[in-house]
Amino acid sequence: MGRVLETKEIYLKYKQELKEKLRNLPTLTLASLVGEKNRACEVYLSSQEKLAKELGVNYLCLELKDACLEKVIEKIRQLNEDKNITGILLNKPFPSDWKEEIVFSSLETKKDIEGVHPYNLGRIILGKPVFVAPTVLSILECLKMTGVFLEGKEVTVIGFSTIIGKPLSIILANQFATVNITHIATYREGHLPFYVKRADILISCVGRPHLVKGEWIKRDAVVIDVGIGEKDGEVCGDVEFENAKERVSFITPTKGGVGLLTTLFIFKNLIKAYNYEI
Ligand code: NAD
Repeated sequence: MGRVLETKEIYLKYKQELKEKLRNLPTLTLASLVGEKNRACEVYLSSQEKLAKELGVNYLCLELKDACLEKVIEKIRQLNEDKNITGILLNKPFPSDWKEEIVFSSLETKKDIEGVHPYNLGRIILGKPVFVAPTVLSILECLKMTGVFLEGKEVTVIGFSTIIGKPLSIILANQFATVNITHIATYREGHLPFYVKRADILISCVGRPHLVKGEWIKRDAVVIDVGIGEKDGEVCGDVEFENAKERVSFITPTKGGVGLLTTLFIFKNLIKAYNYEI
């Protein structure tokens, strides 16, 4: 039976380090923009607020559900120019008329703590990242915890969003992993089990409860489950956790796994944004 990768211990260690770093800085301000809300987003927002308070960071949560694309861009421009704002975070899901590439491109690159502006994405492709999305940093940290050597390993990434799947896949390939990039079309064609079965490392970033069946997973694989969904009123991941656990070497739980560290890395990137300015 595989080891469940709990991140609590490393979370506490890193939190302490962040507290110490922040103590020596002026108070930083994080602007967190919210479009639509779902359960995953609500959990994420409350953990951002809680951690900001603990770390002594100003937290500005801006709800823009009814704002059209133009208004959101205008708001982002104001935040870009506001010297009091250290970093800007864009919470998903977005309302349907917020064109992702336009919203991402409107960010000031130095405040783009999720690394979604084309400049920051380009830096990732070149292997010279400045900002990497907190979720991706968290996934990489979980992989580090397993001690697995990425070079030559076959990794299947499910999900191809600009904020998680795309940068993650590039970063892994830059580390010489062989990366299978899969998404909704892979699923529709019925090819998902094929790519899951091949994977030494499976990273699922979709948000569809129990999309990945336990029996698809290769024996002794490493499984990082990023997805947050809801089934029968319970928060659950993309992977059938109980079935998968029997086969894998490592697996992250939905609670206390990737998500816990993600929030922490927001603030790590916020410090980076502050240092960028000086
Ligand atoms: P997104 O909706 O932008 O992207 C989802 C991706 O999944 C798309 O590329 C899509 O093609 C793919 N997809 C959808 N249905 C699929 C299917 N049936 N089979 C295969 N691929 C499919 O979402 P996102 O912002 O990238 O977030 C993904 C998930 O990660 C969500 O559940 C979100 O809540 C969660 N999330 C977790 C953390 C964390 O720290 N654990 C942080 C951020 C987001």
